Amino acid sequence: MDTLPGENLKHHQNFTVAAITLLSSTPPKSVSGPLSATFGTGSGFPELQLFLEPDGQHSLSFDLRTTQLFRLGEVQSLCVSESSETIKEKNYSKGVTIQFKEEEESSSFHGAFEHWKTQVVIQGSDLPNGTLSSKSKFDDKIEASSAKMYFHYYGQLLHQQNMLQDYVRTGSYYAAVIENQADFVGRVVVDVGAGSGILSLFAAQAGAKHVYAVEASEMADYAQKLINGNPILGQRITVIKGKVEDVELPEKADILISEPMGTLLVNERMLESYVIARDRFLVPNGKMFPTVGRIHMAPFSDEYLYVEIANKALFWQQQNYYGVDLTALHGTAFQGYFSQPVVDAFDPRLLVAPAVSHIINFTTVKEEDLYEIDIPLKFTASVGTRIHGLACWFDVLFNGSTVQRWLTTAPGAPTTHWYQLRCVLSQPIYVMPGQEITGHLHMIAHSAQSYTINLTMSAKMWGPGAEQGGILQTSSCRLDLKEPYYRMSQPQAYSSSQDQQPNQLLQSQDLHLPSLDEDGSDFIQQPSNDSSVQIH
Ligand code: SAH
Repeated sequence: MDTLPGENLKHHQNFTVAAITLLSSTPPKSVSGPLSATFGTGSGFPELQLFLEPDGQHSLSFDLRTTQLFRLGEVQSLCVSESSETIKEKNYSKGVTIQFKEEEESSSFHGAFEHWKTQVVIQGSDLPNGTLSSKSKFDDKIEASSAKMYFHYYGQLLHQQNMLQDYVRTGSYYAAVIENQADFVGRVVVDVGAGSGILSLFAAQAGAKHVYAVEASEMADYAQKLINGNPILGQRITVIKGKVEDVELPEKADILISEPMGTLLVNERMLESYVIARDRFLVPNGKMFPTVGRIHMAPFSDEYLYVEIANKALFWQQQNYYGVDLTALHGTAFQGYFSQPVVDAFDPRLLVAPAVSHIINFTTVKEEDLYEIDIPLKFTASVGTRIHGLACWFDVLFNGSTVQRWLTTAPGAPTTHWYQLRCVLSQPIYVMPGQEITGHLHMIAHSAQSYTINLTMSAKMWGPGAEQGGILQTSSCRLDLKEPYYRMSQPQAYSSSQDQQPNQLLQSQDLHLPSLDEDGSDFIQQPSNDSSVQIH
């Protein structure tokens, strides 16, 4: 949010009013003062409290999100609150006229009303001392166009439904919360990126004292509706529309709950928001659900996938496309297809070495640590084969006091909407059984809420020269995590079909690819004894 310099002034919180008339009582009842009126966020949302007695015992409070203020005269105003559910015509549940002593006081009250209503509720960026931050941490690092599309996407119910219908995901969260009721009973919870509000409702079911559901997209309004539709739980949930980087909460949280994981765990860069929410809202040593995330990586061999991708560029091999030679763009097209990470569910038998893992502890990681992630790779090939790239997946741990539960997206485990991700090398590398494969997976965050991935994989060549220290075969690729190739609509080339003749898939002799193995049978690997591929 851009703030005009003049708006940085602190707005008044307390006002003296001369009289208040309650319009909802018949006949309207007037109370004369001096009485006081106070703006605040003590209930978790911006409100105006009108004290009807000098001792402050009886007060009337207005939720500013649904309240309007009209000027009736120089020193008189009308304050009305819309009732929460209306059918067609708007009806108002509460109304008062407020009489001020002086016009100046009245103007200042109107200014404060607008300030508390707009700045605190909609943009939610009011700092505790009343000054406004110039620009949020989120806006500083994320392109406005990316953020707009991102929150537009999550503002649509169909995409929330897609996540809710991932029963592995939602069921794991439900189980993790319900099995660890002790972590929620009587506690203050913040739901970071609440979406439909489902995790807030789970937390309320588990006995949370109060849940703050923070959601930046338009989905916040639907979350409010869903919560209103579950009033027993809903009375302990406050929806706050805004970014976790910007909003203010009236109290600290004992526990954070969130589902910030994207493809390869880090896509969407929402883990950074989760960490910012931790630093802003969580009490020291508070809990985080999930607590830890791990990225797992292993080399794979998948001739079908490789040929499928390479064949996509064959179109550009045509020398007479309506009389035009397209080959000048073949190289670019070929590299383009290999710069897309492949998202699908694959058979774990395609893995050719035990996986390595990279751990991210959400309770201790710094936000900046997520800007650049460099993971050294070292594998030992279980079989002799052609390696086509690196397969990746992730899991997260809910480190509850009662039960520790993992949510995994591993190949072979029940499929989730994240599937798995594979980075395919345009130059496959050959390995012998027991041979070492080294490399790096280097990921740099970019302002479009994703990462540029640089993958390098190397193996020593066998054959002549190998004994003298060997010659390295190295293959690298650069991929944009933001532009994956969703392969789910393709028939899955699993198991037995794989050891038929992969060579036949090649459509053209012109294809500039390393020659394929004569015998495709060794592409099929036995399940690896991969201790880090845990099916939880
Ligand atoms: N918690 C829900 C939704 C998860 S999807 C569920 O588990 O079903 C992630 C949600 O976080 C999206 O609705 C997205 O709009 C929201 N979000 C992402 N970044 C955010 C941020 N910085 N502040 C607030 N909400 C954010």
